[in-house]
Amino acid sequence: MKHDRSRDLYDRALSVMPGGVNSAVRAAVEPYPFFVHKGDGGHVVDVDDNRYVDWVMGLGPLLLGHDMPESVRAAVQRRASEGPMYAAPTEVEIELAEFVTRHVPSVEQLRFVNSGTEATVSAVRLARGYTGRNKIVVMQGGYHGAQETTLVEGDAEHPRPSSAGIPQSFAEHTLPVPFNDRDAMREVFEAHGDDIAAVLTEPILGNYGIVHPEEGYHEFLRNITAEHDALLIFDEVITGFRVGGLGCAQGRFDVTPDLTTFGKIVGGGFPVGAVGGRAEIMEHLTPAGDVFQAGTFSGHPVTMAAGLETLTYAAENDVYAHVDDLGERLRSGLEDIVADQAPEYTVAGTASMFKVLFTRDGTEPTCAADVERGETDRWRRIFWESMLEEEIFLSQNQFECQFVSHAHTDEDVDRTLEAYKEAL
Ligand SMILES: *Cc1c(COP(=O)(O)O)cnc(C)c1O
Repeated sequence: MKHDRSRDLYDRALSVMPGGVNSAVRAAVEPYPFFVHKGDGGHVVDVDDNRYVDWVMGLGPLLLGHDMPESVRAAVQRRASEGPMYAAPTEVEIELAEFVTRHVPSVEQLRFVNSGTEATVSAVRLARGYTGRNKIVVMQGGYHGAQETTLVEGDAEHPRPSSAGIPQSFAEHTLPVPFNDRDAMREVFEAHGDDIAAVLTEPILGNYGIVHPEEGYHEFLRNITAEHDALLIFDEVITGFRVGGLGCAQGRFDVTPDLTTFGKIVGGGFPVGAVGGRAEIMEHLTPAGDVFQAGTFSGHPVTMAAGLETLTYAAENDVYAHVDDLGERLRSGLEDIVADQAPEYTVAGTASMFKVLFTRDGTEPTCAADVERGETDRWRRIFWESMLEEEIFLSQNQFECQFVSHAHTDEDVDRTLEAYKEAL
């Protein structure tokens, strides 16, 4: 397999972009990433004309695959040609907000922003403004975008920034605890309950392996936050409109968060984020309330149209049945292969999310630390590359999950299972 043009482009990119990329994970593969020419259904074609089965799907947004259905394409083209944006409101913002509030019962009102990061920044500020408290509890290994409050590691007693450029005095307002650990959560509320504005968590950790909540864990979070007048924020940037279909993961788990952040799918492949929740909380955002929030591009008509038409298409077609079925086929095929060839590894996922975790003892991870202890170097240096040689594109590190789209086929699944058989 040749990568000459990608190699040349990466050489050029390194001169004008730090690390040659605009988002860090894209350069997680060595020696350099392939550059994309175009997408095609469930496949992606690189600039050297190699074609891969694409299970990355933009890291989540592309529920329908690379080809927009006619209704989505027409709406995007019309909006773009009418003049892309205005700094004045448009009807399509209301339509997408109405769609979301209709399908996600915890959400009465929404504020659209431009990325998942911006959504969690806004949700955290809103939670602090609403409660008058400072501290945010997060899960170790949870990901909420590139923002100051959540780029924090360590534990609740010793939080520290996980990136240069963040003051220790900021990190002290963030309390990281292990996912699924109820005792750790109880301790944090005993020690800091009066100053906890919110618990912020992904319903399923999707950026650190795939780690599922244990039975009853979300009900536990719902209860302990309510007891202490803290908010429960679900970060559904990945799981929203993917797990649990249009009702999202909160519908699947039957838990009602106070606030929810969205991103990825809700913009139909264009830059997007959103915060939603009860009107009584949401109305603390400016101009209704006093928690400042604004954005030049927020509610961008092209994005709103793409999101609305994508979700409408999903509502009117067999999208979730198809992606969940293929997800199930992949996971059960992978379980057979793993049992045979690598019994120490685990197959994780649900609905249209999947990942083979290179664990060392075959037990399903309950928190991020379990994933971190895996054979991450083998995954990155040996396995990923072998899969690429078999024309299968997987997410660029051991920690990010992979996604089935409506454009994938049974044949893609068969080819992928064969490749895992070769590469594992
Ligand atoms: C991707 C992601 C984000 C960040 O979204 P961006 O659009 O990349 O800023 C936040 N939270 C979760 C759970 C995500 O998966």
